[in-house]
Amino acid sequence: MSQDFNITLGDIGFDYTSQVKEHVSRCNVCGSSRSIVISRKDRYGLDVSACLCLGCGLVYLSPRMTVEGYRVFYQKYYRPLVSYYLKQKIDTATIIAGQRQYARELFGWIERYLSPSKDVLEILDVGGSTGVVTKVFKENLEALGFSVKATVIDPSPEELAVAKMSGLETIEGLVEEKNIHKRRWDIVLLCQTIDHLMDVAKTIIAIRSSLRERSLFFVDIVDWEYVVRRKGVQDSLKIDHPFNFTRQTAIPFLEGKGFRIVSESVLSDGHLIGLLCAKAEERPSSFSPGHAEFLLSLIREKQALSQ
Ligand SMILES: [Zn+2]
Repeated sequence: MSQDFNITLGDIGFDYTSQVKEHVSRCNVCGSSRSIVISRKDRYGLDVSACLCLGCGLVYLSPRMTVEGYRVFYQKYYRPLVSYYLKQKIDTATIIAGQRQYARELFGWIERYLSPSKDVLEILDVGGSTGVVTKVFKENLEALGFSVKATVIDPSPEELAVAKMSGLETIEGLVEEKNIHKRRWDIVLLCQTIDHLMDVAKTIIAIRSSLRERSLFFVDIVDWEYVVRRKGVQDSLKIDHPFNFTRQTAIPFLEGKGFRIVSESVLSDGHLIGLLCAKAEERPSSFSPGHAEFLLSLIREKQALSQ
């Protein structure tokens, strides 16, 4: 895990400049077209442009690679790029240990909010990687006497192969392209994934449609404000996060899409905010009017310090 892993960006062979790009004209969270470019480099040193939405404070990449570009990116370049940045080999084997600890913490928190009315529980883990989190949930729920059917959606065939070996149903691809709303689930997990999505609004709407009345939906965000305070602007941005949320953007967004927050927790490593949600009536999102301005002043302060 801690072995040195010294490679250069060139060794990875990922050519960002030649990738097909698309402009994002409206904020996927609040719909505003008012935004400001805050950086043209990401933490890997790639020429990635990031914008701050002046409507809600969402930070998003634009222009960005297309869905097809990201599909290839996740299959071939993502883990090597993270390994390059962290100077430590990150692959299927190394991520399992960290995910197991995360999963135990998560289950220990969420368990008390489960009030299922049936004995067979269906779990969907969106962006579930090797299925570690799902498996921990499945094992713990089975120990409580439930039968569990668990499904993982992920774009990485290599990681899904591990999930399949754990007895989980696997669906390869991006969630935006899968009709998850055609099935019903008791627990939907979107763990460390929302920032990686290509269409957050579409995904959240589909997830809500896939819930039963007493279902629970768990989502966590990397708290972008926390990261930018600690690491500065460029190091807070990465090609694999088309979206970057703060608590003030995530909660009104979820409420506006028909969720209520059942419980909220900062997960133990500090940079993740977990939100446990249930279905509720849709209501207009009430984004904090001063949040984008506040973030912009924080960005300017951090950029001034780094010059
Ligand atoms: Zn917005």
